[in-house]
Amino acid sequence: MLERFGGSFTQQEPIPEAGIEAAIAVLRHGRLHRYNTAPGETSQTARLEQEFAGLTGAKYCLAVASGGYAMGCALRAMGLRQGEPVLTNAFTLAPVPGAISAAGGRPVFIETTEDLTLDFAHLEDLAKSTPSRFLMLSHMRGHICDMDRLMALCDRLGLLVIEDCAHTMGASWNGVSSGRHGRVACYSMQTYKHVNSGEGGFLISDDADLMARAVLLSGSYMLYAKHPAAPPPEVFEQIKLDTPNVSGRMDNLRAAILRPQIAVLAERVRTWAGLYACLEDGLSHTPGLQLIERAQSEVFVGSSFQFRLPGWSKARIGAFLAGTLARGVELKWFGADAPVAFTSRYDHWRYAEPVPLPKTDEILSTLIDMRVPLTFSLDDCALIARIIRSEAMRVGQGPEPEAAELPVIQ
Ligand SMILES: *Cc1c(COP(=O)(O)O)cnc(C)c1O
Repeated sequence: MLERFGGSFTQQEPIPEAGIEAAIAVLRHGRLHRYNTAPGETSQTARLEQEFAGLTGAKYCLAVASGGYAMGCALRAMGLRQGEPVLTNAFTLAPVPGAISAAGGRPVFIETTEDLTLDFAHLEDLAKSTPSRFLMLSHMRGHICDMDRLMALCDRLGLLVIEDCAHTMGASWNGVSSGRHGRVACYSMQTYKHVNSGEGGFLISDDADLMARAVLLSGSYMLYAKHPAAPPPEVFEQIKLDTPNVSGRMDNLRAAILRPQIAVLAERVRTWAGLYACLEDGLSHTPGLQLIERAQSEVFVGSSFQFRLPGWSKARIGAFLAGTLARGVELKWFGADAPVAFTSRYDHWRYAEPVPLPKTDEILSTLIDMRVPLTFSLDDCALIARIIRSEAMRVGQGPEPEAAELPVIQ
């Protein structure tokens, strides 16, 4: 009998009891809007911002409606001009180029290395040939590039760095929290990220002018003094009439759900490390399957797992995906011709007029991706690894399969 996995790849943990209680208290008093406070009350949203600033060591923090909103807000706050190019990773998720476009910018994609991070040589070429002031650095799937080298390079090239930390909340590079290298960092609290309020986002920065603009942009009206994690009111005085309101606020219900999750983030990161190590262990030395190397300096969050099947044809990868799916293991593939569910690729984002990137194409055409929800146990991960390993060996070493319909995985 072939082993089969019966668990769900999309089932998150429940909201901590403290979060459920705090959310019910908000529902009972009815003050859901972040500026709707009783005398002397600091709203759940304002407290959440203070707590996340404390966790990351940032001077300022703003909670907003989504990660995509946070990125667009950061670019606007930095003065992005209409049609201005913004350099960004080719290997990223659709909300990243989408946020750049929505803010009036033009995404320009940078090649991808074998360890799924930014290609520095291509970044340098593009920075020299494109009149760009901004790098939107996406730590896609939690893979962090050499941040010390990158920041030195960006300083030399005169690039301001905005970090997309959707997959690196709780991660670090050489002991520095992910999000603390660039001028500003953006996080997502969408259900599949590291804390879950359905939707949500954060910006953090030490730059007072930038953050005051972000607060105004997010829709603070003239209530910015109700932001204990924002710059002092005098910073707002100078810019408050120059900054449009582009509403994208966080609300107290979601903040109430998030606060107890921020408190257990470090614990979650440790659990994910164990699950990731278990998968890596079970898949190491599998013929035909290449694991992604992780840098010594990187403390990553194992909320997803990637590997490559170098040299495999599309038909063979299709047969492998069908084989694992039949045994209950849902894998995603970055090489499909058309975008499927959450998974799309830079050359599918036609509005951005992408130019072909041969290195990225080669990497993504054989890149497999898997969610690792915290509801998985170590035994689950060991079983999943055995199934992937056995299917990789069966399909990888078998005859070339006929091209088959790809299974559709959400
Ligand atoms: C989820 C995600 C975002 C932000 O997404 P929202 O759904 O807008 O919160 C940004 N970048 C990456 C890489 C993501 O996966």
